[in-house]
Amino acid sequence: MNDNILTKLGISTLLKKDNLPSLYLGDKVYYGTGKQFFSRSPIDFNINAKFKKISNSKVEKVIDSLQDEFQLWQEVPAPKRGEVVKTFSLLVKENKRELAFLITLESGKIYEESLGEVQELIDICDFAVGLSRQLYGLTIASERFRHKMLEQWHPLGVVGIISAFNFPIAVWAWNAMLALVCGNTIIWKSSSQTTLCAIACHLLLQKAIKAYPTLPQNIFSLILANRQTTKSIVKNKNIKLISATGSVSMGKSISPMVASRLGRVLLELGGNNAMIVTNSAKLDLALRAVVFSSVGTSGQRCTSLRRLFIHKKIYKDFISSLVKAYECVNIGDPFKRKVLMGPLVSKKAYKNMQLTLKKVKDQGGKIIYGGERIKNNVPSGGYYVKPALVKIKHSAKIVQKETFAPILYLIEYDSFEEVLKLHNSVPQGLSSSIFTQDLKESEIFMSSIGSDCGITNVNIGTSGAEIGGAFGGEKDTGGGRESGSDSWKNYMRRVTNTINYSNEIPLSQGINFEL
Ligand code: NAD
Repeated sequence: MNDNILTKLGISTLLKKDNLPSLYLGDKVYYGTGKQFFSRSPIDFNINAKFKKISNSKVEKVIDSLQDEFQLWQEVPAPKRGEVVKTFSLLVKENKRELAFLITLESGKIYEESLGEVQELIDICDFAVGLSRQLYGLTIASERFRHKMLEQWHPLGVVGIISAFNFPIAVWAWNAMLALVCGNTIIWKSSSQTTLCAIACHLLLQKAIKAYPTLPQNIFSLILANRQTTKSIVKNKNIKLISATGSVSMGKSISPMVASRLGRVLLELGGNNAMIVTNSAKLDLALRAVVFSSVGTSGQRCTSLRRLFIHKKIYKDFISSLVKAYECVNIGDPFKRKVLMGPLVSKKAYKNMQLTLKKVKDQGGKIIYGGERIKNNVPSGGYYVKPALVKIKHSAKIVQKETFAPILYLIEYDSFEEVLKLHNSVPQGLSSSIFTQDLKESEIFMSSIGSDCGITNVNIGTSGAEIGGAFGGEKDTGGGRESGSDSWKNYMRRVTNTINYSNEIPLSQGINFEL
């Protein structure tokens, strides 16, 4: 591991042999004493970090402190809260390359994409700083004489953030930066695959808040935890919102726990994203979009392209161009320039990919390219694979499932009506895209009778969303929205005020209740 980078980010002082702190609150750290966990770099399988299970009682104490600190933080004027985020953003800019290094080290995505992820963090900070002066409510016309109605937005309290390995800092930032400017305190349960990224962000945020010594300091915390400890966080009544990003099975497991205490939950779960390439599409653009969407981050983005519908008139030619493009994808050490695809995140991910490819064959599909492990000219220990292209019928069971690996299903279609039905027939509803020059097709695709996904693009691939829009999806993807637009409202509670400035006390709906 690069010692200079760890020192610059302040992590090396925390690294104790065999044990990283498992719990962080402002500048306080706590070491676990229970079972040991460790994370390995997907690049070569070397161990990155070791930490031990922290006791539930310590976690509860930290949540209690966050609840106390919330009472103070909510009273800090929102633009002042925005200043803290601005300071944090400047620190991130100064450490952009170092943070990108950690992302590549822990997630295995190529360095160029990691730089993009840090940029995404900076962008959401900018958004949050602007938002800190725009937490607007409405004035509403009252039906009563000399009455006024208002809508105000107040902070919620402690917000819990659970994040996935594949966007180790951006997803946290989407939630955390908005939650903080909205006046909440936060506890972050990062993926245990990407602990160093999480610690580095925590330390930079701590540096930012220290620049404002008169403000509450213990407003954010980080926990490196296993599932059991995560469940105790999810069940804690003091956490007013759980925002969880990860697989559908994770969402299905934690959602009932939050519901049983009538808490709020924001779910950002798996996708089964599709693109339709019509016969009027600009094929050179479509091809580039397909390759980035399916191969980028080794097919391990929630928005990765999984299903490609190609019109029958261009099906054969488009597939032969796609195979040629796949042959040019340089696979290897994600730190190396010109490498476009790094390793899968783990042995489990590799096994899952192979199992899916077996099911593909069992269910009548044909692998026309890739799928196998590469061992030459790649760092030893990691799971490097050739991305797979598969011809299969859409009705095959395996196509309904998200396999978090670079497998692209190729499906030929004839009519637009038919392909729309197939497009919407899977359980997930995250990202979708159409390549067409036909105005009618693109309008229908974006309309209510078109794609049923939360993200619907025209002449752009399924992955690589900007922070300005609300991000999230429907059906099994969980229905949550994060990042831009008015997603900030998820981190606040809405209050309706009615004010009477008349000399009467009239009731609404004209009810007469004379004594
Ligand atoms: P994962 O579900 O294994 O883990 C996500 C997080 O949840 C981790 O912090 C993990 O420790 C925790 N977790 C997992 N199961 C849990 C349980 N039963 N109880 C409590 N906590 C639990 O997902 P992953 O492998 O880290 O990431 C890949 C998945 O995340 C894919 O399905 C991908 O589509 C999805 N994802 C979705 C979005 C989105 O915005 N929709 C973004 C990124 C990733």
